[in-house]
Amino acid sequence: MLDVERIKKQLEARLEELGERVHDIEDDLRSPSNPDFAEYATEAEGDEVLQSLERSSLQEIEQIRSALERIAEGSYGECVTCGEPIREKRLEALPYATTCIKCAS
Ligand SMILES: [Zn+2]
Repeated sequence: MLDVERIKKQLEARLEELGERVHDIEDDLRSPSNPDFAEYATEAEGDEVLQSLERSSLQEIEQIRSALERIAEGSYGECVTCGEPIREKRLEALPYATTCIKCAS
């Protein structure tokens, strides 16, 4: 049996983490010489990398939000394409998956 409550907590924690990350990225993009972010900026090698990181974070936030909506509606864990249940292992690896492995491939 799928432990939706546990997944929901994971998703909420991840959402918070991503929100903070996006916030930090935006700060850094506004002030590139921010000393707190010096190390990070070196790793990221410039604003372009930060922007793409921000985009992918925002994308993940969207996916998590819609997964949380599906949890609220009770349709979480169903493949949006074929309606079959998504395997628990897949959801554990990718909690905001919307399709089963067959439909995803
Ligand atoms: Zn499917």
